[in-house]
Parts: sequence; structure tokens; C-alpha cells
Amino acid sequence: MSLNRLFRLISIGLLMLFLAFAVALVWTEWSTYRNGANSVPALRNLRLALLAMEKISAERGPANAFLGAPAQQSEALLKQLASARQQTDVALASLHAALEADARLRQSWALDKVRTVEQGLGPARANLDRVARLSADNRSDVLVLAAVAGMVDLMPLMIRVVSELTLEVDRADPRLRDGLSAVRATASLREYAGQVGSRFVAPLITQRQLAQDEVIEIGRLYGRIELLRGVVAAQMAGYVSQPQFAEALDRVDKEYFDSGFQFLDFLLQIGLHSSSYGVSTADLYKFYVPQMQSITDLRDLLLAELMRQAEQNNARARNLLVLVVGLTLTACLFFQLLMVLIRRRVVQPLVRATDLVAGLVEGKLEQEIPEARYRDEIAAMMRALRVLKQRMRERNSLASEREALITQLQTSSNTDFLTGVLNRRAFFTQAGQQMGLSQRYGRGMAVVLFDIDHFKRINDTYGHQAGDVILRGVAQLVAGLLRKVDVLARYGGEEFVILLPEADLVQAGSVAEKLRAALEHADFEIEDGRRIKVSASFGVAALCDGAGLEELIRRADLALYRAKRIGRNRVEQATADDLMS
Ligand code: GH3
Ligand code: MG
Ligand code: MG
Repeated sequence: MSLNRLFRLISIGLLMLFLAFAVALVWTEWSTYRNGANSVPALRNLRLALLAMEKISAERGPANAFLGAPAQQSEALLKQLASARQQTDVALASLHAALEADARLRQSWALDKVRTVEQGLGPARANLDRVARLSADNRSDVLVLAAVAGMVDLMPLMIRVVSELTLEVDRADPRLRDGLSAVRATASLREYAGQVGSRFVAPLITQRQLAQDEVIEIGRLYGRIELLRGVVAAQMAGYVSQPQFAEALDRVDKEYFDSGFQFLDFLLQIGLHSSSYGVSTADLYKFYVPQMQSITDLRDLLLAELMRQAEQNNARARNLLVLVVGLTLTACLFFQLLMVLIRRRVVQPLVRATDLVAGLVEGKLEQEIPEARYRDEIAAMMRALRVLKQRMRERNSLASEREALITQLQTSSNTDFLTGVLNRRAFFTQAGQQMGLSQRYGRGMAVVLFDIDHFKRINDTYGHQAGDVILRGVAQLVAGLLRKVDVLARYGGEEFVILLPEADLVQAGSVAEKLRAALEHADFEIEDGRRIKVSASFGVAALCDGAGLEELIRRADLALYRAKRIGRNRVEQATADDLMS
């Protein structure tokens, strides 16, 4: 696999891995943020439910007072009751609307319960009104108890609504759990405080001693209230360092437990033994109910704090999400940049350098070796490559110079310096090869030897320089009349030899005759402009009876000698006598 491809694969693999981590991280933060974002609306719903619960409890105050009021006070209490009922209705309607509006709660069990409470309120109120309108004589204990119980019975439903909505907040942001417990404990405290007050309504209306079961029930409620007081104090431990919480808790102690609760205790002590309370339900409403406000104030303070915490947690989760997304994107970008950098500065130059080296090996010396952009190891490699290329060029030119020199040397060592035809040594090399071929394939071959006649005389008459000019002229004339395959060489002095491949004695004889005639008719101009005529004598021999080259030349030489002897300027062929000798 190429380095480029490998690098690309590794980059993609690493990027995928990195993205998977990034997505997991962002997803976790996103889920925390999204869950947390529900905490504020869930808290709002819970507050509405607590408010509705409180209003139902609060409605019991004027209702109970109204039950026991003499006719002249009823008008004022009736107004207060109507206003309390309206507040309850508004609070329930707000809760109802909020739950309807929340897509996750529209089908919920909590909304069902709210509807049940809304439906239950009408009959409970009607019953209460009916009992209140009865004359004092007809307002029996049983009827009053039933009227009070009708309103109290709606409470467990509301408590369950609150429980469910508390769970919603807890799911959205578990960090609010402690605060939620404190809120619930204060809400329950307010409810039980209301309930224990209601227990005195019937005895106060009918001005009777407390029944045994009422005493037991009041004792039970006292127990619960004390328990809740402890729970609230414990849950508030984390808050009391802040002055407003310490103050609110202090107010609950002072206003409810020290003042309101003592008032009930006073009624209890009377009711245990006699029926002369000396207070009406209206007095109960007037003295006791306002003291419970400190509990609802504490609850509201806690709710506000929870809301602040929820918003703060949301903001933190959002900031964290933004931070994580930002860091992830930056890291992604950085990673990409890193990969691009490695690719540009390492992988691509390496691949390029490899191509260049491969090119140099193939001998592509014309290829450009680029300047490296950075002062790094790649730059050093490019420099080395340039040096390598330069050395290769020098070596190549040296090699070609040497080749030329060798060729030149070979040519000059094979050539006769004066006439330009082959010298005697080169003739024997080439003729030896031709001889081998002819003998192997049984082809003919002939040798012609010729010598310029009376050359000494020419030298003597015209000078050695003129002799040289004539020697060159003779060689050129003869060379021009021969075939390409024929081999002409200077045999020595003014004597030349010709090898005629695939020629027999007759053919060689006629070639020699043609040359002789040409020489006879030619003249050669010497330096002073005179033209000189020459002739030559020829001896011809052809291959037969397996003779070698030396033997062939010897026979041709004999024939040449004969031509000289007989009279020169003639062609003589080797005879049977020549073969014998
Ligand atoms: P023949 O007809 O019997 O061959 O007579 P010849 O004069 O040609 O024979 P000889 O062998 O006596 O003389 C050859 C002469 O050729 C002698 C020598 O000076 C001359 N010669 C040999 N080589 C050269 C050369 O390279 N240049 C010149 N100018 N003369 C040469
Ligand atoms: Mg001669
Ligand atoms: Mg000679």
C-alpha cells in the first residue's frame, strides 16, 4: 500500500475514533442539559400544585369559621369564604391549565387527580353551605364533622399530585432533591397544622368536650407535626447558613410553634375536661390561621431558592455544553490541521522524493528537483538529490566522452592514416571473420592483391609528397568501385589487398580487370597541378580445396609476381602451379 494511501486511511480511522469520542461527550452533555431544561417548568408545576393545595387548606379556615359563626357574623365570613373559594378555584385552574399545556403531563395521572379534586370541591362546598345554613339547634355534631371531613378528604389526592410533580423535578435535576424534600416537608407541615386546627371546629361549634377518638386523632396529628418540625429542621441544615432561611425558620418556631400551636394546646387542655372554651370558630380562624403563614412563607422561600438553583444548574449545563462543543470543534479543527500539516510536510514530500529518486534511477536527469519550502530534513534530502543528479550528469557525460574516445581510438587503430582505408591488421581481423562465414556456409571468396607499377620512379621523379597524393587517389578510386561487402586495405607500401566475399576466381578476375582498366585510364593531380598517370599489376586467387586466408594471399601474391614479371599493368590469376608450390 502506498504511503499516501496508508496515511489517508490512518487519518480517516483516527478522525472517526475522535469523532465517536466527541459525539459521545457532546451527547452526554446535551442530555444533561436537555433533562435539566425541564427542571424549571417542572418546578413551576410543582409550585402551582403546592399553591392549590395550600389554597384548599386555607379555604377550610373561613369555611370552618362560617360553620360555627352566629348569624350576625356570617355575612362577613361569607365574603371571606367566597374570596378563599375563588382563590382555590383560580389556583386549581392555573394548575390544571399548566398540566394541560405540558405535553408530558397531558395524559398523566396527576392531571386526573386534579380533575377529581375540582369535581370533588363542588359537592364538599355545597354540603358545608347546607350545614352552615342550618339553625344552631339542627347543626348536629355529626353533620359538622362530615362537612369538615368533606374538605379534608380532598387533601390526599392533592398530596399525590404533589408527589408526582416532585418526582418530575427530581428526574430533571437530581441535585435539587434535598431542597425538594424540605419543600415537601414544609407543605405537609402546613397541611397537618391546618388539619389539627379543623379538629377543634366541631367541638367549638357545639361547645362540647372533646371525644375520646378526637383526642387520639389530635394526638396523632401532634405527633406528625412534631415529626415534620424535625424533618424541616434537618432538611434546612444546609440552608440556615444564609440569613433569610435562618430568619424564616425562626419565624416558624416563633409564630407557629410558640404562638399558634400553644393556642391549640390551650384549647386541648380545656376540651379534655370541659366544654367552656370561651372562643368561637371565628376566633380560631382569627388567631390560629395567620400563624400558619410563616410555614407557607418558608415554603415559598425554599421554592424560590430551588428555582434559582435550577436556573443556575441549567445555565451551568448550557455553558458546559457550549464549552464541550467549542472544545470539540477546536480539537477537530486542530486535528485536521495536524493531518494536513503532516501530509504536506512529510508524506507528500516523501512520495515526491521517492518519485524523483525512481526517476533518477531510470535516468531522467532532465527532471526538475524542487526547492523545499521549509528548512527541514526534507530540504536536506532535496539538496542531496540535487547533488546526486549533478553527479549522475557528470558521470554520464564522462561515460559518453569515454565512449567517443574508444570509438575514435578503434577507428584510428584500424585505419591507415595516409589513405583512410583499413590497415593490414584490421584487414586480417575482418577477413578472418568473413573467411569463417564462407567456410561454414560453403560460399565462395576471393582475394585480389595489386601493386602500383614503378612507384619508386614516381617518388623519384615528383617527390615523396606527390607519391603520397597518388597513393590516396588510387585508394579512393578503387574504394569507389567496390561493393559494400568487399574489404579494401593497404597491405604495405604501394600494395593493396581486396577481399571479395561470395566471388569465385572468374568474378574476382573481372573485378580486378575493371580496377586495372580504371587505374590505367585515370590520372592524379599533384600539388603543382600536373596530372600523373599510373598503372598497377593484379594477382587474383579464389577459395578452393579448403585453403586458409594466408594461403589465399600467398597464391594471389604469386599471381601478382607473375603479372609484374610478364610486363606489369595486367591481371594474373593463381594457377594450378601456384596451388602446388
Ligand atoms: P615495381 O613495378 O616492380 O613494383 O617497381 P616499383 O618501383 O614500384 O617497386 P619497389 O618495391 O622497388 O618500389 C616501391 C617504392 O614505393 C619504394 C618506396 O619508396 C615507395 N613507397 C613505399 N611506401 C611509400 C609511401 O608511403 N609513400 C611514398 N611516396 N612512397 C612509398
Ligand atoms: Mg611497385
Ligand atoms: Mg611494391
